[in-house]
Amino acid sequence: MLNDTDRIFTNLYGQHDWGVEGAIERGIWDDTKSLLAMGREDIVEEIKASGLRGRGGAGFPAGIKWSFMPKESDGRPAYLVVNADESEPGSCKDREIMRNDPHRLLEGCLVAGFAMGAQACYIYIRGEYYLESQRLEAAVEQAYAKGFLGKNACGSGYDYDLYIHRGAGAYICGEETALLESLEGKKGQPRLKPPFPAAVGLYGCPTTVTNVETIAVSPTILRRGSEWFAGFGRQNNAGTKIYSISGHVNKPCNVEESMSIPLKELIEKHAGGVRGGWDNLLAVIPGGSSVPMLPKSICDTVLMDFDALREVKSGLGTAAVIVMDKSTDIVEAIARLSHFYMHESCGQCTPCREGTGWMWRVMTRMVKGEADVDEIDTLLDVTYQVEGHTICALGDAAAWPIQGLIRHFRPELERRILEYKTSKQAAAE
Ligand code: SF4
Repeated sequence: MLNDTDRIFTNLYGQHDWGVEGAIERGIWDDTKSLLAMGREDIVEEIKASGLRGRGGAGFPAGIKWSFMPKESDGRPAYLVVNADESEPGSCKDREIMRNDPHRLLEGCLVAGFAMGAQACYIYIRGEYYLESQRLEAAVEQAYAKGFLGKNACGSGYDYDLYIHRGAGAYICGEETALLESLEGKKGQPRLKPPFPAAVGLYGCPTTVTNVETIAVSPTILRRGSEWFAGFGRQNNAGTKIYSISGHVNKPCNVEESMSIPLKELIEKHAGGVRGGWDNLLAVIPGGSSVPMLPKSICDTVLMDFDALREVKSGLGTAAVIVMDKSTDIVEAIARLSHFYMHESCGQCTPCREGTGWMWRVMTRMVKGEADVDEIDTLLDVTYQVEGHTICALGDAAAWPIQGLIRHFRPELERRILEYKTSKQAAAE
């Protein structure tokens, strides 16, 4: 368990002043100039050495991603784009950072943008996060007034502008290239890759799109050192992490903890345990709605990190832990997620556009048991036809929850089908 002194997000719960004076008191904007004086390459190397992996879901090593940006300018400007379009069901960690610790994010934007050779930063914030966007706007104004942003940012000789852009409520705009399209004023639909944004991104210029939490932790890593950050968690799964714990727990919360903390410990220590006790647990979705659920038997021992969750065919995702106790209709819960992905599909590619609707319709029948047992395998087969055959990861995200359901709860699906058949036969007799 983390000590309070190890926590990066010292105002996660809004107990202190979120404004610039409070931020300065908590060590933010403290001699940021000397961080920039490390130089682009050393900053990137330090982030690489810390083992920081992207906190938005994919878990790509942050320092390596930053290093993809061109070392020399070819005349085009370069951009850092912060993905604050937090819309994954279950995930609400970035909201807390922007609401309660906005200057930590802004300082990160400056340091990370400098390391990438960016001239400006855009924070693309989810449209529904209206209050958070207001707070960010106010924090940006404060940072400009103090000389932390703009011309000669923090007295470093480096000019850096930062803009806030509000989205309009489409989940797909959290996909990095759809986000760029939306930022350019177009319909938010993912682009084919390659070219990747580091080569051709915003307005055709080199761009890195990265998550709020990833950016916000970077100044602290530089101040306290890569070894300090790498000392939490396990190899390849380093650092601290904000977990959002929701569902059937006694105290839903966001909490910063060490990577690789056991799932059971996380829920019991910070969320007051499962409603009705641990034995009342049915299943957990450990990383936001896009990753497959895990039954209690796996939750008993699994660690919360990228590799441990991949080994059990799930994922850390955004570390949004959705807890379901035995009162949950697990088939209906997954059918509800199927509806979400069908609704949010941008419709560009056939496997996703048609497959998400098809999967939802079958799932709706599965809830009632109105299906043949053979259809369980047909449904599974369709998820494999969608997975990996689409432009962006929304297709995978729609397929994986159903795969998790069939992997761990096939007997429940079969029971419903049998019960439905039996009740129909009884009615006919
Ligand atoms: Fe659009 Fe779905 Fe294709 Fe992504 S996978 S581009 S959301 S249709």
